[in-house]
Amino acid sequence: MGESSAKKIYLDHIATTPCHPKVVDAMQPYFREIFGNPQSDHEFGWQAKMAIEEARAKVAGLIKSLPQEIIFVSSGTEANNFALKGIANAFEKKGKHIITSSIEHRSVLTTLKFLEKSGYKVTYLPVDKYGVVDPDDVRNNITEETILISIMHSNNEIGTIEPVAEIGKIAKERGIIFHTDAAASAGTVLVDVNELNVDLMSVSAHKYYGPKGIGALYVRKGVRITPLIHGGVQEAGRRTGIENVPGIVGFGVASELADKDMEVRRNYLTPLRDKLTKGILERIDHVYYNGHPSERLPNNVNIAIEYVEGESMLLSMMKEGIATASASTCTMMSLETSHVLQGIGVPPHVANSSLVFSIGIDNTEEDIERVINVLPNIVERLRAMSAIYPGRQ
Ligand SMILES: *Cc1c(COP(=O)(O)O)cnc(C)c1O
Repeated sequence: MGESSAKKIYLDHIATTPCHPKVVDAMQPYFREIFGNPQSDHEFGWQAKMAIEEARAKVAGLIKSLPQEIIFVSSGTEANNFALKGIANAFEKKGKHIITSSIEHRSVLTTLKFLEKSGYKVTYLPVDKYGVVDPDDVRNNITEETILISIMHSNNEIGTIEPVAEIGKIAKERGIIFHTDAAASAGTVLVDVNELNVDLMSVSAHKYYGPKGIGALYVRKGVRITPLIHGGVQEAGRRTGIENVPGIVGFGVASELADKDMEVRRNYLTPLRDKLTKGILERIDHVYYNGHPSERLPNNVNIAIEYVEGESMLLSMMKEGIATASASTCTMMSLETSHVLQGIGVPPHVANSSLVFSIGIDNTEEDIERVINVLPNIVERLRAMSAIYPGRQ
């Protein structure tokens, strides 16, 4: 039984998703027929411009904002860079203190490390064992110098959903700008900018069946922000450079579909997630179940399996045609333990044997059954080679 015989199963939807067929269909005309520069003052340009504004309304519809509060950017990563650097710069005279959590996405943490080098002070709040930030911690760390709070909506590794609305309320009371990285949430769970009391929010299209290379930063009307990219006139001067018209059109359609089908998708994904969780916990011993038991994404399962090597487990799964992810990244030089699992107190030797499954709307119950059948055998085989496995509990 080689790699070729098994049906390929993709369970890494947090890394990226395939485009929905309707997204691809909608984008198609914008490569050759409606190819104009949206800034051009002729028919070709007007058509492209109109398509952008239609898509903007659809993205706004998904997050319940005004269309003019949506700025198109190239990715979730860019949205996070823009939010953090843009607010830091615009408010540097007011103060230089920023509050965030220790389990944010790398694009937030790395940007903040960069800002620290130019004199900003950053407080990295700890999380509890489920990965939840305590809103009281946020409140107690606010100083006269605080200009920005940035807490992610949900964590892309462990799926935990943060108490963003509550934190937003605190920020609002204290008159501090609040950003949330919703790249793992938007399109999968409801993120309503008003219910959440956020001033800025990052969204990425390829996380919910839209194309890669397009995302949005929501900026509440009236909030001042310095551009990341300087140039012409696009996006009201806040993010210039020619627009990714096909990408924006696809983003719009993906947002419209996600908004319309959110409940249907959630009701499809949740039982699959629970079946996978239950199957693994029942059939494999010495397993850590990571993330919050209820406040979590409907498509995420994060487990750490003791007494097996993470990379060997991933490779064995791959041989069975199952593509999933590990929370720890193995580079050429070293094994980098997930900062998120470290943040929730998973011991490093366990964290390095973690698996992150993220289920998509194209997965079936058979896919989940296959994992439940295959994984225990892989674990058993790898443990048979382990000198430290103490045997079944
Ligand atoms: C995927 C993701 C990002 C980065 O988005 P890209 O569009 O892939 O650059 C940032 N934050 C979170 C929580 C994510 O899941």
